[in-house]
Order: sequence, then structure tokens, then C-alpha cells
Amino acid sequence: MTTAYARNLIAGTWEGPGADGIPTSDPATGEAIGVAPRSKAADVDRAVRAAKAALPGWAATPAPRRADLLFRAAGLLEQRKDHLGHLVTREMGKVKEEALGDVQEAIDMAYLMAGEGRRLYGVTTPSELPNKLCMTLREPVGVCGLVTPWNFPVAIPSWKSLPALVCGNTVVIKPSEETPGCATAYVECLVDAGVPAGVVNLVHGTGEEAGARLVAHEDVAAVSFTGSVETGRKVQVAAAPSFKRTHLEMGGKNGVVVLDDADLDFAVRAILWSAFGTSGQRCTAASRVIAQAGIHDRLVERLAEGARHLKLGHGWSPGVQVGPLVRPWAVEKVEKYVQIGLDEGARLVAGGRRPKDPALARGHFFEPTVFAGVDPSMRIAQEEIFGPVTAVLRVQDLDEAIRVHNGTAYGLSGAIITRDLASSMKAARSFQTGIVYVHNGTIGAEVHLPFGGIKHTGNGHREAGIAGIDFFTDWKTVYVDYSGALQRAQIDR
Ligand code: NAD
Repeated sequence: MTTAYARNLIAGTWEGPGADGIPTSDPATGEAIGVAPRSKAADVDRAVRAAKAALPGWAATPAPRRADLLFRAAGLLEQRKDHLGHLVTREMGKVKEEALGDVQEAIDMAYLMAGEGRRLYGVTTPSELPNKLCMTLREPVGVCGLVTPWNFPVAIPSWKSLPALVCGNTVVIKPSEETPGCATAYVECLVDAGVPAGVVNLVHGTGEEAGARLVAHEDVAAVSFTGSVETGRKVQVAAAPSFKRTHLEMGGKNGVVVLDDADLDFAVRAILWSAFGTSGQRCTAASRVIAQAGIHDRLVERLAEGARHLKLGHGWSPGVQVGPLVRPWAVEKVEKYVQIGLDEGARLVAGGRRPKDPALARGHFFEPTVFAGVDPSMRIAQEEIFGPVTAVLRVQDLDEAIRVHNGTAYGLSGAIITRDLASSMKAARSFQTGIVYVHNGTIGAEVHLPFGGIKHTGNGHREAGIAGIDFFTDWKTVYVDYSGALQRAQIDR
């Protein structure tokens, strides 16, 4: 039976889906979950109007008072962690511990941003003139349009909305149409914490209709988007005519460099986790392994063996390590790339097909897949697959490893596994990525540090930490001249 488990929130009123709602289903079983509103441009317009109307009151609320509500929301997220985590698995399939981790990211972000309510630091600095004070204030940007993907269905809406809110902005969230229940349950925590009507609005629907309207809306001052490069490009173009501040977090082709001196057991564990966690559906998934010649063959063998032994199944079942892909189209995309890899001459050493286990037949599963003999120019070494596929590339030394690592259009995260400090530091400085992991895989972001990438992954902004605050505030410089005289900067020296 389908229920209205996902609802819009506009001006403080919850609204269920109409007859044309968007159905969702459990990717592990194919069972129907519910129906979400298929919002029209007019619904987005109402949500933006509500956010605009609520803006003056919220912006004028002292930041520590805004933060009180975020503290309360953090407590509610903690209380509802299990419920939210279950919903994450149900809607997009990730395994239990990762689903709970998704919610934990939101909890951590809520506490971090609540703490920011008593900081939101600016700068005070001497003036070049006597009896004059110079300082900076952070002002809210205005109504923020937040467009989010399905792979972190609680964490990413929180990463965007919580910094926006503590800074005094009002928001309209357009979550992924694949995970509307998670976004609804997250926003319920904000509402139940006491966030006033109109400050947070939630509008479900397709990207083409609801998303496109939101990012082009003339009353939206800033857009924060996470998703694919293709969509990010459209968002940037749509936001440009009204000069919106636009933050884009997009795809990745993350690589783990493994040098000859690495601890092989550790490298295998770190890569399996980075490549096949969330079934490879992470922007930071390790879809490339760049192995030095002396360790390469042993690493390929061990990775293939490890991949074959990962347990597939429903994410909430005990012992399961790899869940399904989000939808049938995701499996089809992975299949297409496996064929591309084979056609390009890469060697398939594990996986490469849908599992034969009849118990998994109704879900969107794909076996963890490892390719060896991959050349850096191959499409499987260049393009984001967003599934459980990793490509191993052989290199002779660190310099070649760095060149290969940097030889893609993306620049999100990179990792190096070696016992040598100098090699680690050289890699950390040379990787063309926003994030570097030393002696680990490519995943494991913490909320108080900037998150994001360069090149085709991002457009120069960062999420999380103080960097998140920077995106959601405008600097205002205030000069207070208490000399009583006309003092002219640069002239009266
Ligand atoms: P997607 O680009 O298909 O969709 C993302 C969001 O954009 C959805 O809410 C969608 O409805 C909306 N959208 C689609 N078309 C739109 C349009 N024309 N205008 C406005 N909004 C529109 O991405 P996805 O499949 O949901 O997520 C997977 C992608 O997200 C991968 O490429 C992954 O690497 C990326 N991702 C990046 C990060 C990061 O921080 N760099 C984090 C997670 C996911």
C-alpha cells in the first residue's frame, strides 16, 4: 500500500502528493514505498514567496537564538536516528552502518552549526587613520535554493540547510526524487525543533520541473547544488542571468595510489571499503587504484579475491556489506561501462555481472567489479561510473602515479598508501583534488573541515566547516570614524 510518506512543506503547511505523485520503491526488493509530490513551477514559486516573507524576521533573530533551534534539531535527529537510517536504506539501499552514518553526519553538522551561532566570526582590524575602527560583519545572503542528490539523502540536505539557517538565510530544499521520504523526515526534525513557518520549505519533484524553476527563480539569491556534472552545468547556466551565487558539488574519479612499500593487507581493506561502500555510489568512491609495479600483481589478486567475498543483500540484513544500486537505470549504466571496459581491452578480474543468487533477483544488485590492465586513457579510467567498479592501473614510480592520478577531468579526493612520509607529503601537495587522504582510502569526510573539489568536480566553493559559512554569508565592511573630522583614506597620511 502506498502512503503519503513524503510531503512538501510550504509556509509551514505540510502538503501531500496529488494523483500525479512520484512513486518510490525499495531498491533491494522492488517493493513500493510511497508517493511524493510532483511539484509544479507554481509550487516552487509559493515556496520561494514563503521563504522571502520569512526572511526579515529570521535574519533579525539573534544568531545564538537561531542556533538554539539547531541544537534542538540535533537532539531530535539523534532520537530519530534509527528511524531515519532505516528510511535511508529503504529508499536508496545503503547498508545499515552507512545509513546510520549518513544520519550521524546530519547530527554532527547540526551541533557544529549550532555552535557557530555564537561565533560567526568576522574581522576587527586597525585603521590607517586615528580614531577609526574597522570591522566586518556577516550578513545572510537571502533565500537559498538547495538542490540535493539521493546518495546521501539526509546528510547532504543537512550540510546545505544548517549553515544556511544559522547564518540567517531562509531556504527552499528540492531533494532528489529518489529519496523524498528521507528529506521529509529530516525537515520534520527542523519543524519539530521550532523553526518558524516559511524559514524552511521543502518542495519535491523532478529536476526538470521543480529543480529548474528553483535555480532560475529571480527571488532566489544563492543556489547550492550537489549532483552530476551534466546537471551542474545546467544549474550554473540557469542561475547566471540573475547573477546568483552558485555552489556546485559534482562528480569524482577518485584514485588511491599504492606504493611498493605499502602494508598490503591494509591497502586491500581500505580500497574495498572506498570502492564498494555504498555500492560505489559515492562522489568520493575509489574508482581507480594506481599501483606501483612491485605491489601491483599481489594487490590485483587480493582485491579480486576480496571483492568476490563481499556479501550482497538488503542493507538492513545482518552481515551484508554491499547493498543494491539505487534504481534499474543505475545497474544498466554499470553494465554499459563493464562492456566498454572489455571492449577497450581491460581485464575483468572480479564481478562484471548481476549476481546469480535468486534471493537478490528482485533488487538492483551488481557484483563488486575489479578491472586490471587498465590504461589511463580508457573511458573506465576517466568517466564517473557511480557503481561498484574499480579500475587498477600500473605505474612505475611516484611521479608517474601522480601524473596518472591527476590525469582526469575531476578533482574531488585522492589517497596515498605508503609507509614513506616524504612520498605521502609529495602526493598531498601534488594531487589536484580538494581532499587528500594519507594512509587511507578516498572516503571519510568530517563535518568541521571543508568538503569539495576542483576542476570539473566543483566551482570553487566548499561545503562544511567555516567554508560552508562563507558560502552562506555576505561580507559587510564597516568603518566607524569617531574622530569628528573628515579623514580621507589614502590622502590624509
Ligand atoms: P543528478 O544531477 O541527477 O541530480 C541531483 C539533483 O538535481 C536532484 O535533486 C535532481 O532532481 C536535480 N536536477 C536534475 N535536473 C535539474 C535541473 N535541470 N535543474 C535543477 N535541478 C535538477 O545527480 P544524482 O544522480 O542525484 O546524484 C549523483 C551525482 O551526484 C554523482 O555524479 C555524484 O558524484 C554527485 N555527488 C557529488 C557530491 C559532491 O559533494 N561532490 C556528493 C554526492 C553526490
